[in-house]
Amino acid sequence: MIEANNSNLTSWIKVKADSDFPIQNLPFGIYREGSDSPKAATIIGDQVVNLDALQKLGFFSKMDLPSGIFAHTTLNGFIALGKPLTNAVRNRLSEIFRDGNAELRDNQEAKEAVLIDSDAVEMLMPVRVGDYTDFYSSEQHATNVGTMFRDPDNALLPNWKHIPVGYHGRASSIVVSGTDVTRPKGQTMEPEANKPSFGPTKRLDFELEMAFITGKVNELGDSISTDQADEYIFGFALFNDWSARDVQKWEYVPLGPFLAKNFASSVSPWIVTMEALEPFRTAGPVQDPEVLPYLKYSGDSHFDINLEVFIQPEGADETCVTRTNFKHMYWNVRQQLAHHTVNGCNINVGDMYASGTISGPTPDSYGSMLELAWKGTKPLLMPDGTERKFIHDGDRVSIRGYAERDSVRIGFGEVTNKIKPAK
Ligand code: CA
Repeated sequence: MIEANNSNLTSWIKVKADSDFPIQNLPFGIYREGSDSPKAATIIGDQVVNLDALQKLGFFSKMDLPSGIFAHTTLNGFIALGKPLTNAVRNRLSEIFRDGNAELRDNQEAKEAVLIDSDAVEMLMPVRVGDYTDFYSSEQHATNVGTMFRDPDNALLPNWKHIPVGYHGRASSIVVSGTDVTRPKGQTMEPEANKPSFGPTKRLDFELEMAFITGKVNELGDSISTDQADEYIFGFALFNDWSARDVQKWEYVPLGPFLAKNFASSVSPWIVTMEALEPFRTAGPVQDPEVLPYLKYSGDSHFDINLEVFIQPEGADETCVTRTNFKHMYWNVRQQLAHHTVNGCNINVGDMYASGTISGPTPDSYGSMLELAWKGTKPLLMPDGTERKFIHDGDRVSIRGYAERDSVRIGFGEVTNKIKPAK
């Protein structure tokens, strides 16, 4: 049991019951306040905690932390210190901010240097992403897409239950929550046409996903087993893998998605550590047929995390369009990382691995507009009376997520983006 996860802990910082950030969470992110340089932070309730200021004030003096480690533009250097140190920082933060500890609470000057209201800061990309991989690990999603695009009787391709299918995506266009997304242009083949046309996508879609971020390097040629995977996974964030379905349909054979996916993916700014999610582990589905030995795993390897997507048309209220759960994945993150490296592929600190669209078992729990509106045949009604088959210009799409047990809610905040018209 990790003491920082103790559900009885409370903080001397006020935390509302529905906050994503109680003292048991302590995620890591990068913020900027005004024209100051970016700093690493954690958050409790609505108070952002300046870790650089805490270090300068000597609050980590018993730890062997490099000076200025929290004064970088990304968390890569901090994460690369390794879990013994990054977990020690999380545990120390749990001590500093828990009820009964006066060392910072009663030091007004230090408190003013350390705490900032969350609405006074801008959250930045938490890591520099060297490589980005997107899996395709939800059976319901793969079945839905296979049914729509290929053959309802053979919706899953023969390899799907043997391989955690994935592809290498584009790292340069991963943006943090709050960044506007411009509608992409591309080639499409209209259903009855005999030649392709070009223009803004007519089928802009979100993909509700979770991403994990690696924090440890393996040598080229070495593999990471399912038993070792936890050592390499630093934490998790919400992920929206924006997609242009009409472009995708025309380009994806034979090598998979290309321009339909590389114009933008967006990520929530706070990385919730794997350690904070330990209490929310749960069993996954029985895998039949039996997987190859290198994909076998032991212990609860899925996570019970509630996920929601909201659409807000311009000038209207937002509305929830789907509710699902990370536990619905067929392949878990241990299997994904083991498969990714079984051939000796090396991974780096800050690399991102998205789960693939997370669709639940019922039509109101699907993870994309493609599935929710079933290829445009079942439009969704918005609060302003308009309908959505796909995402319109001016729409804001927000993904939120949280795990909850024993009255402790470990949340991820949100990844939210507004759509700008094509250039
Ligand atoms: Ca995806």
